[in-house]
Amino acid sequence: QGHVRFEDVRFGYDDDRAILKGITIDIPAGHTVAVVGPSGAGKSTLARLMYRFYDLTGGRITIDGQDIARVTQASLRAAVGIVPQDTVLFNDTIGYNIAYGREGATEAEIVAAARGAAIADFIERQPDGYETRVGERGLKLSGGEKQRVAIARTLVKNPPILILDEATSALDSRTEAEIQATLERIEQGRTTIVIAHRLSTVVAADEIIVLDAGRIVERGTHADLLRQA
Ligand code: ADP
Ligand code: ADP
Repeated sequence: QGHVRFEDVRFGYDDDRAILKGITIDIPAGHTVAVVGPSGAGKSTLARLMYRFYDLTGGRITIDGQDIARVTQASLRAAVGIVPQDTVLFNDTIGYNIAYGREGATEAEIVAAARGAAIADFIERQPDGYETRVGERGLKLSGGEKQRVAIARTLVKNPPILILDEATSALDSRTEAEIQATLERIEQGRTTIVIAHRLSTVVAADEIIVLDAGRIVERGTHADLLRQA
């Protein structure tokens, strides 16, 4: 479950400028592919297409052989979870922020997700169930804590496919390393697309794709790319 293919994917936000110029990537279920490249290369656009924010100009994206253009938005969202770079939280409890937009999530699932994202210590057992600790509201969290809430939001869905769109690049390097470890743990068993700005953060990826101006200019493992460089 979760075999993702990009087949000659082409896309432009407007007709006269192509942003992605024929991208083919095969990601076996459970594998991790990293996409690196300079700013403006089209990395975030690639991530957004996976979520069908826009229609392709050409080619197709499939999950387990099925064209994502032909599945319902609801089933696509159940299959794919995105952790964005910047997370805007509501000034409400952590539990509320994790559960927002996840109407079906039970308290136990929210707590499990918080644990998976390593923010369980923000959640305390109350006589009538789990509650966020008093005072720990979204706007008071550090950048790293906010990203952990974003990770937990995604984990509540337990998606087989995970997209990390520069999920740690706005953080200081120590916090980045801490959250990196959490992300590597939750990637286990999921098909993952990691958008990254530095090669050094994606050493363990099964394949690294270097995107430049909408084209794949290099691909291989971390060791392959270092050999070519
Ligand atoms: P990267 O993530 O590699 O920095 P992006 O996918 O964000 O690249 O952007 C690729 C190109 O698409 C850039 O030239 C950017 O200006 C353009 N672009 C991004 N988002 C939009 C949008 N919503 N409308 C029009 N152009 C966009
Ligand atoms: P769902 O709840 O179905 O998983 P969301 O609408 O909460 O999906 O979106 C998941 C993530 O994608 C959110 O964290 C949000 O920041 C990001 N996102 C949502 N809509 C857009 C958009 N139009 N462009 C870029 N990112 C978006």
